[in-house]
Amino acid sequence: MSETTPRRLALILSIILSVLAGILFLVFVGVENKIYFRILVPLAFLVLVVIQYFVLRFSLERFIYSRIKLVYKTIHKQKLAKDDKKEHVTSIHGDIIGKVNEEVENWANDRKDEIDELKKMEVYRREFLGNVSHELKTPLFNLQGFVLTLMDGGIHDTNINLNYLEKSQKNIERMITIVEDLEVISRLETGEATPLLTNFSVTALVREVMEFLEPKASERQIKLMFAAEYNDNMIVNADKEKIRTVFTNLIDNSIKYGIQNGRTKVSFYDMDENYLIEISDNGVGVDEQHISRLFERFYRVDKHRSRAQGGSGLGLAIVKHIIEAHDQTINVRSAARVGSTFSFTLKKV
Ligand code: ADP
Repeated sequence: MSETTPRRLALILSIILSVLAGILFLVFVGVENKIYFRILVPLAFLVLVVIQYFVLRFSLERFIYSRIKLVYKTIHKQKLAKDDKKEHVTSIHGDIIGKVNEEVENWANDRKDEIDELKKMEVYRREFLGNVSHELKTPLFNLQGFVLTLMDGGIHDTNINLNYLEKSQKNIERMITIVEDLEVISRLETGEATPLLTNFSVTALVREVMEFLEPKASERQIKLMFAAEYNDNMIVNADKEKIRTVFTNLIDNSIKYGIQNGRTKVSFYDMDENYLIEISDNGVGVDEQHISRLFERFYRVDKHRSRAQGGSGLGLAIVKHIIEAHDQTINVRSAARVGSTFSFTLKKV
């Protein structure tokens, strides 16, 4: 069915009014078969139709425009730039209803997208807050338990007093790790922590990180090694301290989720504009169904093992943020009881 526009309405009304005028003319003046009658009357009818058409069209458009102007203005208030606003709001020609329809539809779609985005953010915020309080609750309750036992006389019991104080200290450490990682992630997410790019040797940096983690690795008889003999001429352009965090988190994870007498190997591949860096272990690995979620905040495959190792569950989320802030990518391949390989790129100099 065709749409009713002011133009069409004006045309129909003007024809109806003109026909009515014609009938009235015939009724009051009568039919006279004169020459001027046969020429003038149809001419007058045509002129009447045209005049009425324009008058009605103008009045209708004015009337409709005055009614919808407010709605139209409200919709455009934030959306359009000044020039656009002028063009749309002052123009009363053309298919106004069609234009307004289109604008209202666009406006409604934009609002729907905004509302969907807000809903998503709301769910994310709720989940995030829930996760944070859950993460902090466990060490806090543990701490409370130890302190209450010590207060109830345990402080004088040489069998438990030192042990409970050490456990309390561990729980405090865990809360500090969570809070520090939360701060890092929030700075990365708000874009406050933009990378401070410098040129440095990536192999030398990995050597430093390996030395730092060596005591922890040897505690579990895990060997940290390079896949080949690399010299220190592999220079990258990146934020050295942030990339240190990336290597520390990934190598630390390879130890935490490694096996006794296992090994962690770091390899470098020259890829034209970038270096591809791989950190692979022969540890517990991850089942396929978990792989796509590993970089989510607080996602852990084995919650118990992660907490026992003092993990905040934020390490890989931080790593991903840092690599993406460098406009680079990170991937993971893994298989349960075989091992995991995390690979990412850095810009070559
Ligand atoms: P967490 O503090 O729990 O280690 P991460 O964000 O660093 O947090 O890692 C998330 C989860 O990914 C870990 O809990 C673990 O289940 C899994 N994971 C990370 N690295 C490895 C790895 N090298 N081998 C096996 N699983 C890993």
